[in-house]
Amino acid sequence: MEVKTRKRIFFALALGGLLLVLSLAVFIWFLSKNPNDLAARIFFNFFTAFILVVVFVSLLGIALLAFTLFSNKPMGGLNNIMTKSLNSVYPLAFFSAKLLNINKDLIRKSYIETSNQLAKFRLGEMNLKKILLLAPHCLQDRDCPYKITVDIENCRRCGKCPIAGLYELTIKYKAKMVVATGGTLARDFIKQYLPEVILAIACERDLASGIHDVTSIPVIGVLNRRPNGPCCNTVVDCKEVENVLKYLCGDICQLN
Ligand code: SF4
Repeated sequence: MEVKTRKRIFFALALGGLLLVLSLAVFIWFLSKNPNDLAARIFFNFFTAFILVVVFVSLLGIALLAFTLFSNKPMGGLNNIMTKSLNSVYPLAFFSAKLLNINKDLIRKSYIETSNQLAKFRLGEMNLKKILLLAPHCLQDRDCPYKITVDIENCRRCGKCPIAGLYELTIKYKAKMVVATGGTLARDFIKQYLPEVILAIACERDLASGIHDVTSIPVIGVLNRRPNGPCCNTVVDCKEVENVLKYLCGDICQLN
């Protein structure tokens, strides 16, 4: 129930953002009535028409997206187009959230959950062979001396941090695991490995911006928790990660 509510937040804010853009178009159209200069009038009319087309296409994208997600019916080849629609309205939804003083992490979570479901639709038939588990460096114990960002095999699996559990899961499910210190390194890992799907673990901000950046490969995001404050000894629910891995390997057919 909570997941559905979160997705609704994204759609409500995206629609609110489009309404704002529509109001802007009406305002510009109103201005276009005043200038005596014909060139200015043509310019204003052209600009209004352009905004109206953008709003119409975005509304169509949102309607299709909402129908697909809430009815749980994948749309075949249209899934990639819907990913583009989702990413293009995300900044608008984020802007609306800022205007309404809504917690930014709430809209990010909503976007991540919406995107996760769409990613599952894009993947279609499971049983994937190239799964990349992308973990953030902040999961590693702060005092651990081993350079796991260079090579995950440097982890001694002592169990002091979640890296050990995640590493064991990737061995079990034959996935590749990398630990990135930032977006640039993460992008390099993706370019090198060229996975079929990315299972990314991060905080709301990094996950939302990563998902927004990587459109060519489906990304399923799992949020980490920060009981020790941001970027320090963060934790993740390994059971949740295992469920996603099982799903991607075709061992279970439904994710919670
Ligand atoms: S589990 Fe691995 S990364 Fe974590 S503290 Fe132990 S050796 Fe370091």
